[in-house]
Amino acid sequence: METIGCGPDTAIPLWKATCNLDTDVSELFPFINAIVDDAKYYDKPHYIEFQLDGIRCALYPDNVATSFFEDRDQALRFINRLIDFLNDLEARTESLEPDHNTYKPVPVFEIFKLLPQTNCRECGFSACMAFAAALSKREIGSNQCPELNKPGNENGVKLQSMLSLKGDGAK
Ligand code: SF4
Repeated sequence: METIGCGPDTAIPLWKATCNLDTDVSELFPFINAIVDDAKYYDKPHYIEFQLDGIRCALYPDNVATSFFEDRDQALRFINRLIDFLNDLEARTESLEPDHNTYKPVPVFEIFKLLPQTNCRECGFSACMAFAAALSKREIGSNQCPELNKPGNENGVKLQSMLSLKGDGAK
């Protein structure tokens, strides 16, 4: 457990937790990929990022890093919740279809080319390039750019299609 400074809206320090696992859990990655919306499954290095109960996890074969927590007790409760989740998933694998598609971000410049490029800041970012970088990492949705989402904007449709592709595109 370690503190990572204070959040933007609070003077209370936030915590992140890492823990080692005594079993290789990598066989569960494709199942997590199949059942958790917005999971990002990476091949090299081999790990999966996802949210469980709104908490971000980076799960590696033999360890996990999670954040953010307001105190140690919340972090410990979450680690126990995560272990229960993994044990439950392992018990259900025969009834689930694994998803082996790995996450490949859409290149920032490919996204940028489809943006209005007016740097109007209505999305909350200082420039279209910053918006493209965040969208490439799936930190935001393309609907945060009002111009892009106007009816009839073909670039908006193209971008949605690019972002929703799986396999060779993006998960
Ligand atoms: S709202 Fe759209 S056009 Fe405006 S800065 Fe953001 S991405 Fe660019």
